[in-house]
Amino acid sequence: MQLYAYDRDKKLIFAKDAFKQMDYYCLECEGSLRRRGGFHRKDHFYHLDALRECRQNGKTHEHLNVQLYILHVLPEGECFLEKRFPKINRIADVVWEDKKLIFEIQCSPISSNEVYERNQDYKKAGYEVVWILHDKRFNQKRLTGAEHFLHSLPHYFTNMNVEGKGEIYDQFSIMDKGLRLNRLKPLPINVREPKFVEQEFKDGKDVGLQLARRRLLKSSLYFSCDLIDRYFNRGDAEDPYIKEAEKFEMVSVGRKNETVFEILKKRFFQYVVKPYQLMLQFFLERACK
Ligand SMILES: [Zn+2]
Repeated sequence: MQLYAYDRDKKLIFAKDAFKQMDYYCLECEGSLRRRGGFHRKDHFYHLDALRECRQNGKTHEHLNVQLYILHVLPEGECFLEKRFPKINRIADVVWEDKKLIFEIQCSPISSNEVYERNQDYKKAGYEVVWILHDKRFNQKRLTGAEHFLHSLPHYFTNMNVEGKGEIYDQFSIMDKGLRLNRLKPLPINVREPKFVEQEFKDGKDVGLQLARRRLLKSSLYFSCDLIDRYFNRGDAEDPYIKEAEKFEMVSVGRKNETVFEILKKRFFQYVVKPYQLMLQFFLERACK
């Protein structure tokens, strides 16, 4: 289901302005669409052929609600939904034209390769992608390949439900060997306020929080109220969220060091102490003969 379609004259039509019982056409696969919706459901288009394989077909109500939420919070007239990029053969979920940003909303599984390809394609077109991952599928204990890939790149989570209630949020977590070990509470971000990383912070130097430092090294932007923003604005009184995140990181590093120490201890016994003991035993046995 989707929010935009072409009419017979190839004119772009918003679902709310479409007529029921009239045929429209999919922006992506050109299949036939109809409008539905009403009191309980937002107006949207659906493919007449429900089994048709089309990316637009797989969009859920949660997906549409996140698109509409972003459209609603961004400055009027600067943002477009389902914009077509014919040169790279893609349709972006939400485009913030003035900031050259694209929001890609993901509620279904996606491979890390597809995330990489989309980022690359839109980069070629001059846009940066901000991924919004739905926490029904993402932000779980086990990290998906896509989350692994996006680790230090712009991405946030959402818990938007079918009624359109929810938020877009950032979150601090400790990740190790593909698992999310600890996490702090969600930090709702202000989508309306992207911030671009200043030159002096681009190398992440002097940034005590590891996760923030890694992100600064790889991303050129963050948003108001997210982890990086809270780190920069922690002030003298110190932000309790950042303090807790730093504590978690220290414990995690400590745990890792302990493991390395344990490994070294084991190796020392295996390759130094044990052969020495065997040799000693051998000589003692010979001496006693
Ligand atoms: Zn389609």
